[in-house]
Amino acid sequence: MHETGVHASTGTASGRSFVTGLRCLRCGTHYTLNAVEYVCGCRPNTGSDMGTLDVEYDYAAIAAALTPEQVQADPDPSIGRFWPLLPIDRRSSLPPLPVGGTLLLPVARLRAEIGLRHLFVKDDGRNPSASFKDRASAIAVARAQEAGRPIVATASTGNAAAALAGQAAAAGQATVIFVPKTAPPAKIAQLLIYGSTVLAVDGSYDDAFDLCMAACAEFGWYNRSTGYNPYMTEGKKTVSYEIALQLTAAGVAAGGAPFAAPHAVFVSVGDGCIIGGVHKGFKDLLALGWIDHMPRIYGVQSALSPALYNAWRAGDEVPQPVRATTRADSISVDAPRDPIKALNAVRQSGGAFVLVEDAAILQAMLPLARLGAVFAEPAGATAYAGLLQAWCDGLVQADETIVVINTGSGLKDVRAAMEVTGDVRVIAPNLDAVRAALAL
Ligand SMILES: *Cc1c(COP(=O)(O)O)cnc(C)c1O
Repeated sequence: MHETGVHASTGTASGRSFVTGLRCLRCGTHYTLNAVEYVCGCRPNTGSDMGTLDVEYDYAAIAAALTPEQVQADPDPSIGRFWPLLPIDRRSSLPPLPVGGTLLLPVARLRAEIGLRHLFVKDDGRNPSASFKDRASAIAVARAQEAGRPIVATASTGNAAAALAGQAAAAGQATVIFVPKTAPPAKIAQLLIYGSTVLAVDGSYDDAFDLCMAACAEFGWYNRSTGYNPYMTEGKKTVSYEIALQLTAAGVAAGGAPFAAPHAVFVSVGDGCIIGGVHKGFKDLLALGWIDHMPRIYGVQSALSPALYNAWRAGDEVPQPVRATTRADSISVDAPRDPIKALNAVRQSGGAFVLVEDAAILQAMLPLARLGAVFAEPAGATAYAGLLQAWCDGLVQADETIVVINTGSGLKDVRAAMEVTGDVRVIAPNLDAVRAALAL
């Protein structure tokens, strides 16, 4: 380990972030702020073996600038209320399209159905572009604007791009977006309507990712791509802050700390950035003394996109690429781009990776909607399918506080929903037809 560059000053109310630097999670090299942009040079900068960086903070300075009471009293429910914990110099740099502050639903009918007494669903399909990815894209646009970067680019299975397009529209930021041409039409429509420059790649998400990397290197664009841009974790971690605040408000015991932490969190996993963010958020809260324990974090993958599950089972540090074919497009990933943070999240929290079949993912959409009133896209319902599997396997207990994160709205992919519901019944416009249809 060695220091690179000069020591940056941090943590003031006068327009500097509280970031102290970045650390490579492969080789341990520490970089001062702005000494490195995306990844450490200790590895090739693509695929599953990148020198992923973790953003580090001055927690003592943050604690002096922000108290739990201040966070609770802030009338703004969006991620801006956590700004000293974010890698931005000013709260006002966040785009004027508020992100986060999504509902934590107590889902009483789901609890009764499956027998988990303290189950909650964090519905991140309620973000402005209808997915969890808004949390990261807000940070991408804020950082690009603070640095005066004219163009932000990203590769995406669809949601990260839609989130970037929306945040960019709010902030007046130009974007170039690379998606596989097979992305669901609703996601592509979001990109087009928000005014992004959209390039639909005749290939997989992994092809789009590599092309975006090459284009950013060639044309000097700011690259938001997941796993490669270390700051995306820092937006995604805000979900954990909100979970802790909301469980506290719901009366869950905090064990003497200001905020309550759940026993277990379930989240679907593709590249592994969201699960790494969930872990980082709870690590921050522990560092501040705002919660009293780390929840067990469960990463759920489709059996048709199992690269991180496989690596976890085998005890590997670097996942072997797979040929991903899952119907849950948002988690269909050959070579996960954020494997270190994802594997650390599960291993260091005492959680597990859980594998579910695509049929179970699609079936999970039904109880989630009919008993929980949460309409999830397949990748969102994957987390709930994983909870059901874990409950069967004895990984969770009936009296534990459990949070399932829905990462995307079902309106993102209505064809998947119709696959499980079957087609709608069409009738003639008269009462006899109603009687016949309902056997009345
Ligand atoms: C991106 C995404 C995921 C997976 O997140 P990773 O960071 O790739 O693991 C899960 N669900 C939805 C809806 C997503 O958009």
